[in-house]
Amino acid sequence: TYALEINDLKKVYATGVEALKGIDLSVEEGDFYALLGPNGAGKSTTIGIITSLVNKTSGNVKVFGYDLDKELVMAKQQIGLVPQEFNFNPFETVQQIVVNQAGYYGVPRKEALVRSEKYLKQSDLWEKRDVRARMLSGGMKRRLMIARALMHEPRLLILDEPTAGVDIELRREMWKFLRELNANGTTIILTTHYLEEAEMLCRNIGIIQSGELIENTSMKSLLAKL
Ligand code: ADP
Ligand code: ADP
Repeated sequence: TYALEINDLKKVYATGVEALKGIDLSVEEGDFYALLGPNGAGKSTTIGIITSLVNKTSGNVKVFGYDLDKELVMAKQQIGLVPQEFNFNPFETVQQIVVNQAGYYGVPRKEALVRSEKYLKQSDLWEKRDVRARMLSGGMKRRLMIARALMHEPRLLILDEPTAGVDIELRREMWKFLRELNANGTTIILTTHYLEEAEMLCRNIGIIQSGELIENTSMKSLLAKL
């Protein structure tokens, strides 16, 4: 099975901008996949469509076989999204934030509390569970965003520019964390404009430029070509 299958995906914004001009790509279950491209290439638009935050103009998207048009609820259950910007309520506590997220996905409260311990410990945030999110350091906030995205136990984790504006020490720490998560079976897709980041982490890579996928290959064969 594929974690993600995209066929002839197009997006024209209301402004007339053709952000995606017919993208085809598939990501296998268990993969660690990078979508690489410069600013304005269409990475966020692609992620937005997969996570149903942006309406597509045409084309087809399936997540673990669930068609976004026909089985949206099931498709959404499979995906955890880590947006680029912090978008939690800064006045809620760390544990409230992750437990509430599980609630949105229909996880019973008792189970959500159990999971919050698991994922906050895994993210090294359990000691901070009663702290308001605004008090956390930048690195802790990033880890909180990931822990929150894991609370409904998605099979596919999508991260939009996860290390943009992050210092090198924190970046290494996040890379290690993501590698472990992938080793434990979670399929990961991230967008980046750093080739080095894709190189450090990813098995396969798609390169997007002006709304077109100009390369879709293994990291190994891409590096062999350079
Ligand atoms: P739809 O997704 O239904 O096609 P749009 O996303 O095109 O709707 O509409 C959102 C509005 O936000 C647009 O009118 C556009 O002007 C504005 N907008 C947001 N981000 C950008 C951007 N990066 N470039 C240009 N316009 C933007
Ligand atoms: P990337 O994530 O690779 O930087 P985006 O998907 O954000 O690229 O943008 C692709 C193109 O679509 C750009 O030309 C951008 O200005 C445009 N765009 C993005 N969002 C909107 C929007 N809401 N409305 C209009 N144009 C947009």
